[in-house]
Amino acid sequence: MRARPTDLDDPDDHGPGATPPVGATIVADEVTKSYGSLARAVDGVSLRVEARQFALLSGPSGSGKSTLLNLIAGFDIPDAGTITVDGRPVTDTTDMAHFRREVLGFVFQSHHLISGLTALDNVDVALLPTGRRRAERVELARASLAEVGMAARTTHLPSQLSGGERQRVAVARALANRPRLLLADEPTGQLDTASGVEILELFRALRDRLGMTILLVSHDEEARRYADVTFQMRDGRLVTRAPPQDAGA
Ligand code: ADP
Repeated sequence: MRARPTDLDDPDDHGPGATPPVGATIVADEVTKSYGSLARAVDGVSLRVEARQFALLSGPSGSGKSTLLNLIAGFDIPDAGTITVDGRPVTDTTDMAHFRREVLGFVFQSHHLISGLTALDNVDVALLPTGRRRAERVELARASLAEVGMAARTTHLPSQLSGGERQRVAVARALANRPRLLLADEPTGQLDTASGVEILELFRALRDRLGMTILLVSHDEEARRYADVTFQMRDGRLVTRAPPQDAGA
């Protein structure tokens, strides 16, 4: 039996009786990136994030977190070293469009929603490249909005939503293609404390429910309580890998 569209499964990748997609494993090996003649933004970083892990990348501003995240996303190319996602080199992948569409979901600090589109149509934007028909895309977009608790806001414009709700729609857009890897760059950076905590709780609940791997960049101390593992950066280097914190409460 074919999985229903509302299951958000990709019929191309998951056949009959499809199991939910499993989180991807990230491995970075001695990754270095410089900008011009400046000191290295990322300086020989090696890390491993296991499938289904919720990992946090923290550290002071300018320590290289966003640069490393962008390299893992394939938005930029390292000067040296390798990054693999599920064993496939991100930088060597000949089909970057496939990687971005089928494997990766990305949440930015600012929601980057299109102001003239409803929440539903903003999520649909991520589904357009899949070539699915509109009716099927609407089903998927609705299901994705439901996953983030926004089922009752599908026809709202971004201006009619709170900051936290906009960021939820941005998360729904990142989820639309059921990514195996969800990367987020300071997603709580522009939110008040309560909305930020709600987004962190949402990430953890999504990981528990959908099973993707999450790598979150944040210098929000609160984020440590939600992550399984914390990587700390300073001056482009990985300085500590803190033990998991109590994620209760
Ligand atoms: P973080 O995310 O920890 O704040 P970044 O990765 O944004 O740190 O930046 C690391 C270093 O690289 C900083 O010194 C920053 O100024 C520099 N940097 C980042 N992006 C660029 C760029 N596009 N051009 C030049 N320098 C950059």
